[in-house]
Amino acid sequence: MSADLQDLAAGVVDWSADAVHLEAARRDRSGVAADGAPLAVVRARTTAEVQHTARWCTATSTPLVVRGAGSGLAGAATGGAGAVVLDLSQMDRIVEVDPVDQVAVVEPGVVTAALDAAAAEHGLMFAPDPGSVGISTIGGNIATNAGGLRGAKHGVTRDAVLALDVVLADGRLVHVGSRTFKGVTGYDLTALFTGSEGTLGIVVGATLRLLPRPVAVATLLAVFPDVRAAAAAASAVVSSGVRPLILEMVDGATLGAVDELEDTSLQVAGGPDGAVLVAQTDGSSADAARSDLERLAQVLAPLAVSVETSEDPARARELLTARRAALPAIERRGRVLIEDIAVPLSRLAEAVEQVQAVAAETGTDIYVIAHAADGNLHPIIAVPRPAPGAGGSAGGAGTADDEAPLPPEVLAAADRVFDVALRLGGTVTGEHGVGVLKREHAARELGPDVLALQHQIKAVLDPAGILNPHKAL
Ligand SMILES: Cc1cc2nc3c(=O)[nH]c(=O)nc-3n(C[C@H](O)[C@H](O)[C@H](O)COP(=O)(O)OP(=O)(O)OC[C@H]3O[C@@H](n4cnc5c(N)ncnc54)[C@H](O)[C@@H]3O)c2cc1C
Repeated sequence: MSADLQDLAAGVVDWSADAVHLEAARRDRSGVAADGAPLAVVRARTTAEVQHTARWCTATSTPLVVRGAGSGLAGAATGGAGAVVLDLSQMDRIVEVDPVDQVAVVEPGVVTAALDAAAAEHGLMFAPDPGSVGISTIGGNIATNAGGLRGAKHGVTRDAVLALDVVLADGRLVHVGSRTFKGVTGYDLTALFTGSEGTLGIVVGATLRLLPRPVAVATLLAVFPDVRAAAAAASAVVSSGVRPLILEMVDGATLGAVDELEDTSLQVAGGPDGAVLVAQTDGSSADAARSDLERLAQVLAPLAVSVETSEDPARARELLTARRAALPAIERRGRVLIEDIAVPLSRLAEAVEQVQAVAAETGTDIYVIAHAADGNLHPIIAVPRPAPGAGGSAGGAGTADDEAPLPPEVLAAADRVFDVALRLGGTVTGEHGVGVLKREHAARELGPDVLALQHQIKAVLDPAGILNPHKAL
């Protein structure tokens, strides 16, 4: 071990330079792996260890890649050659849940669902609920400004972050924001760190806003002849005055994949080009949730082929199958590239149609699911895996095939999906972040002046450029 590395090891309890750990730290769930292997993985247990690691990285000009659960989809938490990967998943204490102030104070490695469960004991909820809620960490959610299904009503992670404890690149610990719901003292550094993908500071503590947990939910599944009708119906819901907890759209191709996996008949119901909307309303009583759902059913009935509502939890789970099973169903059909564009609500139908046109023109399979109330589409490009015996392993996600370079038509399709977003006045990433995968497209979206400003901001907080270099910007 080099003398430098001995200095790093002297200040932390749990670190590893074992090949297996280094290899795992090269990749996240996007499928990309960083070039080369990191130097070491530090699994910090305390803020002091995080500060020691930051100081050591600054002193030795070593890239520092912070990592929560590694569930990111943008290649942001991947540690490449010579980097130290700082894994915060062991800093997983829920320090307090305060039902009077309606806040939680947590360490960054707390798993999102664990915080929501702890809040539930007090009749509260932590609203952000990414599909990865059972594995992702609060630190990762904050650093990506993650969204989720309940975003239709409650927004994104930023809306739940009141204050942060952040270790800066030079090891200083700062507290930004306050425990209050309101507060405008100074520039909003809490917002700046939220969504900064580990490039500006290391979140070691968070004070989060909790909301009253709904007492009752009611669920609806509406089937449409095509995505244009479904998107128009989503707009009608948003304009109806009722704010659903969840409003998800699933296209016909995805319904076919779900039918194959779950033995359902969702695609048949809307025809091969059909689409569905899944909505859920909530309230402080069953009557409140029901009356909002009835209003939505009235809005949707003239536009839909069929509308089914239910307050029965078992039936509600079945109605949610179209959305819940979408990703696993598509993953069965091939290696997936999950895109994440967002467009103004009024352009949702055009966006889906233009993405479908990209699929036809590039000869790729693109499935579309969307957080319809947010205009946030996930076009998922599925790349069929080689058949067994065709010169590669035919295994599932995470096999060697899944790490081969993506075929040119897939990359071309992804580029054109980003073009669709920008042409329609949208953004190249609604919630997954830029990471390494979307840097070029993010630069196009931001333009040279704003990009330069962002580099200047990073230089103030991280003058040596050690924090997650070559990511996000
Ligand atoms: C099946 C599946 C479903 C998903 N569904 C959604 C979804 O619905 N919505 C959504 O938004 N995302 C979704 N994701 C993506 C992913 O789960 C989120 O981006 C999540 O917020 C990442 O959390 P993580 O702990 O895994 O972070 P990681 O992947 O470990 O890290 C992500 C980024 O955050 C940085 N980071 C992590 N912790 C810290 C910290 N403490 N301080 C500073 N920087 C830090 C990393 O450096 C990296 O840049 C999904 C992923 C999967 C695999």
